[in-house]
Amino acid sequence: MTDAIRKIRDLLDELEVGNPGQAESFRESFQLFELPELVGDIVDYLQPALLPYEAAIYWHLFRHSIIATGDVFARVSVRGLARRVVTSLRSAQTSALSYSAVQDALQGLQSKGAISLAGDTNREGTLYRVHLPEEIALCRDAMSKAQEQQLPKTDPKRELDFYNIKENRLKIFERDKYICQYPGCGKQLTRFSATLDHLTPVSKGGDNSYENLVTACLQHNSQRGAQTLMDFLTRKGSIKLNAPAEKS
Ligand SMILES: [Zn+2]
Repeated sequence: MTDAIRKIRDLLDELEVGNPGQAESFRESFQLFELPELVGDIVDYLQPALLPYEAAIYWHLFRHSIIATGDVFARVSVRGLARRVVTSLRSAQTSALSYSAVQDALQGLQSKGAISLAGDTNREGTLYRVHLPEEIALCRDAMSKAQEQQLPKTDPKRELDFYNIKENRLKIFERDKYICQYPGCGKQLTRFSATLDHLTPVSKGGDNSYENLVTACLQHNSQRGAQTLMDFLTRKGSIKLNAPAEKS
């Protein structure tokens, strides 16, 4: 099961690398001012799931991708990582990590979905794609769990504005695991590409409450315009209204 998912993810990543438009879109949607929040999420949700050398190498890749270029790709070699990231705890003679420690950490990061192979290996090393917390399944689970716990039970979600207040917007994204909620879409988004959509449009009396907002990709958000979600879906014929709820 996990293997199959990993294979699919690798294929998707290959597609993404093969398609410059996609790679371009991360750079275009990347917002520098989101960086503190992104770093906070990595510390809170990803790092606890990593081993020490994995964490050190993830940060190194992060620094040489998103921080260096505003994009998600970094090319690194095992040799370079062994020398430049951290000092080995085990070898008293040299301060470098062993190659096998580096390889284990890279393997661990890949199996946790924190990075993925993004292309060829050449003399400068191997190209990796660095994943953001919202793209990593184990982080999404932790975020959405934390989200459920954070929402005060006595505080009626209805009274808060989840559209205009930025930290509230993120709560909707986290609840929805940064996935477009339109039936049949399921596109994995990031904090840079996700948009909020009203189930009942404001023009039809919809509010900015927790229940009336969903995560949507830009394409689906703009497609629907001022139709209610129900109108949109029935017109498209993409759902059967009487279909029984699926159990997973
Ligand atoms: Zn969508």
